[in-house]
Amino acid sequence: MSAFDDVLAANADYSQSFSDLGLPAEAGRGLAVVTCMDSRIDPLRMLGLRPGDAKILRTAGARVTDDVLRSLVLAHQLLGVERVMVLVHTDCAMATTEAELRRDVQRVRTSPDLPDQMPVAGGSYDVRTGAVTLTVT
Ligand SMILES: [Zn+2]
Repeated sequence: MSAFDDVLAANADYSQSFSDLGLPAEAGRGLAVVTCMDSRIDPLRMLGLRPGDAKILRTAGARVTDDVLRSLVLAHQLLGVERVMVLVHTDCAMATTEAELRRDVQRVRTSPDLPDQMPVAGGSYDVRTGAVTLTVT
């Protein structure tokens, strides 16, 4: 018995009914979402997205780290990303501040490797209501 038996068993069931939709690697809706690793967040469902629609990058506190920025550049250059949302959330153990969110959005906006006019917004997801509110537009 391993620490992963439960999820491997679930995957065995999943793969039995899996059907390859032939999704391309590019983000179908041209979106990247940077959000927290918090397990209460379902990034696709909360934004009405489906597999293949968006690139999802998750860090503690939804912080835009050097690696997140590198991934966003690659997602733009190779994988069809044309817009970015950075979403913190309520009741976050990291408690990212509004100022940090603004700085992270600005960091994406001013990246020399991303287009100047690329839409980048920041906001918050409420883990109690499911509502997303953009606060940095
Ligand atoms: Zn969090």
